[in-house]
Amino acid sequence: MVTVEVDPARVESRLAAGEIGCPCCVDGTLGGWGHARPRRVVGVADPVRPRRARCRSCLVTHVLLPVTLLLRRAYAAELVWAALAGKAVGSGHRRIAERLSVPATTVRGWLRVFAGRLHAVWAWFIDVAVTAGVDVTVPDATGRWGGALIAVRTAAAAIRSRFGAVSVLGPVTPCRVAVACSGGRLLAPGWPSPRAAVRGQHESALTIGGASL
Ligand SMILES: [Zn+2]
Repeated sequence: MVTVEVDPARVESRLAAGEIGCPCCVDGTLGGWGHARPRRVVGVADPVRPRRARCRSCLVTHVLLPVTLLLRRAYAAELVWAALAGKAVGSGHRRIAERLSVPATTVRGWLRVFAGRLHAVWAWFIDVAVTAGVDVTVPDATGRWGGALIAVRTAAAAIRSRFGAVSVLGPVTPCRVAVACSGGRLLAPGWPSPRAAVRGQHESALTIGGASL
């Protein structure tokens, strides 16, 4: 899975130009390789039909998921992010669900997953911030809801200050940074894996910034 921008035309032109790197090998680039099946996503107007791509070097195929979506979630990432932010300021899952018009059990599921990885999320995005930024002040509050979200916001601020407010993946918002720098896996099982950590953090920070290593 590779996170890409929302605009399919830009994805095509970057694929054709060999500008999307393979996450599996060091210097492979991805070329177009059909499409994944279309799916409806709550919060996204049109059905989403993710592009598939194959590495020209190692031949592994990948789904290119727009930065507005999280892996295997049928809701726009903005809705998930709004729920997490609501919890961080003290709202319960029922109130959040009502405000977002999402089933309460769905919101409760998101919050449960995130609650189990607060420290990991904090550590991941602080590393992104330190990689991308200059003289980043590391916020404390690890292991708490607010801390995890502040870490994502700190990473977004560091990326913006180094690369500008608009990246190759679009506007650099905390939600998009949360998606792009987790490879869409913010709520996916097993993320972040310790093995993926070093390479993933460094590459994701620089990828969303539009720079290459
Ligand atoms: Zn490859």
